[in-house]
Amino acid sequence: MSEEKEKIILTGDRPTGRLHVGHYVGSLRRRVQLQDSGEFSKIFIMIADAQALTDNAENPEKVRDNIVEVALDYLSCGIDPSKTNILIQSQIPELFELTCYYMNLVTVSRLQRNPTVKSEIQMRKFENSIPVGFFTYPISQAADITAFKATTVPVGEDQLPMLEQTKEIVHKFNTVYGETLVDPDILLPETKAALRLPGTDGKAKMSKSLGNCIYLSEESDEIQKKVMSMFTDPGHLKVTDPGKLEGNTVFTYLDAFCRDEHFEEFCPDYKNLDEMKEHYKRGGLGDVKVKKLLNNVLQAELEPIRNRRREYEKDIPYIYEVLKKGTEAAEAAAAETLSDVKKAMKIDYFEQF
Ligand code: ATP
Ligand code: MG
Repeated sequence: MSEEKEKIILTGDRPTGRLHVGHYVGSLRRRVQLQDSGEFSKIFIMIADAQALTDNAENPEKVRDNIVEVALDYLSCGIDPSKTNILIQSQIPELFELTCYYMNLVTVSRLQRNPTVKSEIQMRKFENSIPVGFFTYPISQAADITAFKATTVPVGEDQLPMLEQTKEIVHKFNTVYGETLVDPDILLPETKAALRLPGTDGKAKMSKSLGNCIYLSEESDEIQKKVMSMFTDPGHLKVTDPGKLEGNTVFTYLDAFCRDEHFEEFCPDYKNLDEMKEHYKRGGLGDVKVKKLLNNVLQAELEPIRNRRREYEKDIPYIYEVLKKGTEAAEAAAAETLSDVKKAMKIDYFEQF
């Protein structure tokens, strides 16, 4: 059936801050390519404000203010509202009804095993005070993904456990209540460095909550400052010393951002990144030269995004119009799924006559 072949995307971000280059290489850049590929019949990008509130309950202004910031970042990167629905999670009550029913299909111990949630609990110092909403957010993510019948979920590596949890819920639901929900596939970034881009401090993951980000809207001099003070190889003291690439954040960023044509433009001493890496490992190549290349590459990539953002910032009511339209279209899709779910669960009492 052609309906089975239909390809649908759902992905999203928490409005806890402006988006950073980790989002860009981990998901955003790919979303724009997929959007423009014409392969997908529907695309939903969700601003997950209800999820952001699970660990920001006492800070509603932060979540509210960042909705428009995230939407501006989307549009500046090339998300096109005529092809993609941008939606606000909290405005779609169907998602919370689905979450509630899926909760019956997941055990507490299964949630406790989720490695991403585990490390987030540690990071937020929630060990003895985990909000129930935060603990259960993987279930709410399963509701988000299935509500839109998503077949494809382009996200960073930290989302793998969420996708596994979603697939388990889908299988369990379909086994218990009959074939109803669509089984989604994760789509991870193609380059290893982009799976989980480290922070400028060299920490495991660039994250809004850790303050180790280069933001997409960052001013040019800020980008330069952040790049120049980045973590490299602590053993690479003199230019002549051999350098290490493992754990060297500057090279990880180059892996994620650099293309061969950047060398012609910014660093013609080398043909490509492999040649530069070899020289670094041998010794004789200073960190400053590598950082200068990274700065040039990031400046070239981020300048057009920043300029488009400035244009969009002039008309904020338009941004809310885009969000409203996207949310309305998304709610219609979610309502259809909820109706299927209630029917499968035999709680469609008033539709039987
Ligand atoms: P928070 O600190 O509030 O959790 P975050 O920076 O982790 O924010 P999210 O909104 O949780 O960002 O993540 C949105 C999307 O971006 C997800 O698909 C996630 O996998 C991806 N992503 C976030 N950070 C990175 C990163 N450093 N590298 C690659 N992908 C990332
Ligand atoms: Mg996160």
